[in-house]
Amino acid sequence: MSCVFCAIVEGRAPAWQVYEDDDCQAFLDINPATPGHTLVVPKHHATDLLDLDEGGAQLVMRATHRVARLLDERLSPAGLNVVQATRAAAWQTVFHMHMHVIPRYDDDGLTPPWRVAPADAGQLADISRRLTG
Ligand code: AMP
Ligand code: ZN
Repeated sequence: MSCVFCAIVEGRAPAWQVYEDDDCQAFLDINPATPGHTLVVPKHHATDLLDLDEGGAQLVMRATHRVARLLDERLSPAGLNVVQATRAAAWQTVFHMHMHVIPRYDDDGLTPPWRVAPADAGQLADISRRLTG
């Protein structure tokens, strides 16, 4: 199976490095939403968020937090978004788990991916019951 992010982790493909620890690596996205858009990946291949166990998820979140702090300190963005896509239906295009850390700048032109509108109370109650029952 060929995986571009495994190739980067193993040094078989080039990347603009940002951060590395024993378990995770971070490098610049080659199609950045904004300057400094960084991807954080576990070194061991996992397909998506649901393919990680809790320990793996903790390690990715720790690295994501470190990268967020690094970007904030060095690039001084106005804010940050952290985004993760699991499965094609959620816009995943590279099937090696990754977190997007996206520095935000005033007037960077990005727009929210969803519209804000109040939900029907019955729907909220039904979903909450399904998740907690
Ligand atoms: P997603 O759509 O959430 O799966 O995000 C995949 C991201 O990987 C996209 O933003 C791509 O621009 C980025 N990407 C694909 N190939 C590479 C690569 N070789 N180096 C860095 N980023 C990449
Ligand atoms: Zn991989």
